[in-house]
Amino acid sequence: MTIAPPGPVAGSPLIIDDAQLIGGDWVRAADGRTIDVVNPATGEVLARVPRGGAADVEAAVQAAEAAYPAWRDTNATARATLLFRWAQLIEDNLVELDKLESQEVGRPHWGPPPMAGQLRFTAGQADKVQGLSLPTYSPDAIGLTLREPYGVVGAIIPWNAPGPMFVTDVGPAIAAGNTIVIKPAEDAPLTALALARLALEAGIPPGVVNVVTGYGHEAGAAIPAHPRIRRMSFTGSPQTGTLIMAACAQNLTPLHLELGGKSPQVILADADLDAAVPAIARGITLNTGQICAAGSRVIVHRSVHAQVVQRLAEQMSQVKVGPWHEQVNMGPLINAKQQERVLQYMQLGQEEGADLVLGGGRPAGEQFERGYFVEPTLFDNVDPQMRIHQEEIFGPVLGVTAVDDEDEALAVANGTDYGLVASVWTRDVGRAVKFSRGLLAGQVAVNAALGAGVIGGPFGGYKRSGFGRTMGADAVLDYTTVKTVSLRGTGA
Ligand code: NAP
Ligand code: MG
Repeated sequence: MTIAPPGPVAGSPLIIDDAQLIGGDWVRAADGRTIDVVNPATGEVLARVPRGGAADVEAAVQAAEAAYPAWRDTNATARATLLFRWAQLIEDNLVELDKLESQEVGRPHWGPPPMAGQLRFTAGQADKVQGLSLPTYSPDAIGLTLREPYGVVGAIIPWNAPGPMFVTDVGPAIAAGNTIVIKPAEDAPLTALALARLALEAGIPPGVVNVVTGYGHEAGAAIPAHPRIRRMSFTGSPQTGTLIMAACAQNLTPLHLELGGKSPQVILADADLDAAVPAIARGITLNTGQICAAGSRVIVHRSVHAQVVQRLAEQMSQVKVGPWHEQVNMGPLINAKQQERVLQYMQLGQEEGADLVLGGGRPAGEQFERGYFVEPTLFDNVDPQMRIHQEEIFGPVLGVTAVDDEDEALAVANGTDYGLVASVWTRDVGRAVKFSRGLLAGQVAVNAALGAGVIGGPFGGYKRSGFGRTMGADAVLDYTTVKTVSLRGTGA
């Protein structure tokens, strides 16, 4: 393994050419292979990263093991201080990080990146991880629990929001005293590498955060397969999640899975449509629909059905599509495979008998030819049995289903294998309570499409959307395991 020479690429001073981070060193892949990172709006090569594999993961695990004892024994307030410093550096470099993420994901600016705030929330928990004192059978004994880190933990993150995903896993893991080996997606590894560089600069010791870049089936598969990874976290598709869980089963490694959704937006007869329609249209076109929480199924009371479809079509037809750096609302999809997949679902919806109201293909025009663009797409009269109603498309495709009453709305909303996020739109408190309790999802929002803006809300799925929660007050606690200690005096 050779150490890479420093030098900015992708127009970013934060990125070092062909280098991943192992034990505090910027290194090439063990076998020297590389992957090009491409801007999905233009096809332009932004940078190259190492094509890591099992040997690189082994090196990263060894580096993380070497760093672990000292990091575990660093007092929790000192760990918190380093995380706060990291958050500050992220804030100082926000424009650069946002530019990097926009380029690799191909997304227009979507507001201030949340990473610094997320990390500060997490850093504040680092020295509040507490055990219990326990009752004992006799007065000469004391019982207590210690919360201890697992050791070296592993994480695999997807490409749709690499910055937030990176700090969501790395922050709580290292706040608790673990060290980590993380693999970003091959399509969008640059923001993760830049964030890791800032972590080092903040004074987080070498080997605490290790980033191995590469393909899922190579570097990715080697992480859960590694017998000395003590806890695993994965965000991505249910298919890959199943492979990760099977690999973890071989080593009896505990894991956390976040596997996407098919989130319902229930519009009741009394809903404020002026609020609902723009929020739902934005929710499915933001990040080109590539958000696990995106509301992709509108379930609407028949009395307002026609009006909702007409207004959604108007709203979605105003979404301007184009390369991220132009004044647009929606960029391309991440890669050719995703574009092909989303176009197939657009075709399938029509074959299944849904009514295509808007979009349904690639936008026409020379400026769209070099990128993976698709049109914002609206289907009406979607039957709950259709695959476009049941399967996660991960694109800007919205389906509308009309229902006759609240119970049917709830049954249709809950009638998929997923359970990540759900919304209900109503002015009535009683209905809001009924749906808040009745919707089977890890997150329920009333009168908001992607959540109403809660700080520290635990995030995760019901059913096949996965298990485990991130981002909440227990996020750091979840990266610890419990030891019961009982003490008896010697009687002296
Ligand atoms: P994916 O295959 O699940 O990829 C997610 C992550 O897992 C990436 O880092 C990927 O690496 C890695 N990976 C892939 N195969 C692996 C394996 N055998 N072992 C270990 N790691 C592996 O998802 P995708 O192909 O990018 O997208 C397909 C669908 O997944 C989407 O259409 C969407 O429905 C869903 N998805 C959901 C989320 C979410 O936020 N829940 C995010 C992304 C995708 P490489 O990409 O580098 O190969
Ligand atoms: Mg992939």
